[in-house]
Amino acid sequence: MSELHELKFLQDQIQELKDQGVYRKIPVVETANEAEIVVNGKKVINLSSNNYLGFANHPRLKKAAIEAIEKYGIGAGAVKTIVGNNTLHEQLEADLAIFKREEAVMLFQSGFNCNAGVIQAITGAGDLIVSDELNHASIIDGTRLSKADRAVFKHSDMDDLRKVLVERRANYKHVLIITDGVFSMDGDLAKLPEIVDLAEEFDCLTYVDDAHGSGVLGENGRGTVDHFHLHGRIDFTIGTLSKAFGAIGGYVAGRAVMKEWLSHRARPLLFSTNLPPSVVGSLIEAVKMLQESDEYTKTLWENGDYFKGKMKEAGFDIGHSETPITPVFVFDEAKTMVFSKKLFENGVFVSPIIFPTVPKGKARLRVMVSASHSKEQLDEAVAVFIKVAKELSII
Ligand SMILES: *Cc1c(COP(=O)(O)O)cnc(C)c1O
Repeated sequence: MSELHELKFLQDQIQELKDQGVYRKIPVVETANEAEIVVNGKKVINLSSNNYLGFANHPRLKKAAIEAIEKYGIGAGAVKTIVGNNTLHEQLEADLAIFKREEAVMLFQSGFNCNAGVIQAITGAGDLIVSDELNHASIIDGTRLSKADRAVFKHSDMDDLRKVLVERRANYKHVLIITDGVFSMDGDLAKLPEIVDLAEEFDCLTYVDDAHGSGVLGENGRGTVDHFHLHGRIDFTIGTLSKAFGAIGGYVAGRAVMKEWLSHRARPLLFSTNLPPSVVGSLIEAVKMLQESDEYTKTLWENGDYFKGKMKEAGFDIGHSETPITPVFVFDEAKTMVFSKKLFENGVFVSPIIFPTVPKGKARLRVMVSASHSKEQLDEAVAVFIKVAKELSII
């Protein structure tokens, strides 16, 4: 067989990753997603999940999923524009709209799909998309699918955003400012009040991807827009149901007319099958649990603050997170990989975050604490962090 069909060009690139010390295999987890899991045959404290509230294996949500399967089966059958929503999809959208305090919610198969579908549906030739430089990959890809022009402003730099708007606003019909609500790799919040003020001054639309704020910030986890009391001043709020909500899915919350338009033009809804009943059944229950009680979000924040305090005390560079997300900066890529590997050998599972997820030279471990971790587990994790970091002269 020829080199071409043996995919020699891929083999070469993989060898390069190995030479750079950044090659990795996808770990295999043998247990449900919990505070402690078995990975590649080893029991470890799990600090690598976005399962913020411990919902991914919650008995109430599992029961709701099973009941949905019994009643509606395991598949949606087709895309929603052809076979329709079932009553569970309709209910989840209605419940989420109430939870988010918005007119309407359109459900997507994931947060990624939502960005891939919404941005291109609401912008077009003659428009400009203005994006924070650290926005999530799905926003970048979603933006690439649009016929609008693009501009990037420096991360959370309001002077730079203003500069872009001063220079370019007049040349376009609509301008859409897009930002993450919570920046997923650093845990800092967008300066939403200032962004909204600028948007109003320059007559722009606003779009907040709140994947890491959903179920985490605001009253009972209503998100970053609620946290900043900006209801009615953000045009499009994206949320994920794959992180704090424990299952999978994404949605956009906003005006009813937006939902009407998306049902005609959001390509992931027109060309990819609707979420299965089990997922939707469990998500209806998840929204109910959050509306009933703030115990989950409270415990999450307590655990996050507790862990961050201990890590700072130990001398780690944990950046400037304003949420439970805790980056632990190592900077060097290969050293970050070794740090993660040695933590794992000592019973702590925390994934390395390297290029292209973060810029080169900004490698880090990203610790994801959840509401389901015990203080003992967090203490144990910190002790292991200190031991391994000393061995590697990181602290
Ligand atoms: C995780 C994430 C997504 C993707 O959400 P999924 O539901 O996992 O597809 C989108 N945007 C941001 C900012 C994220 O952090």
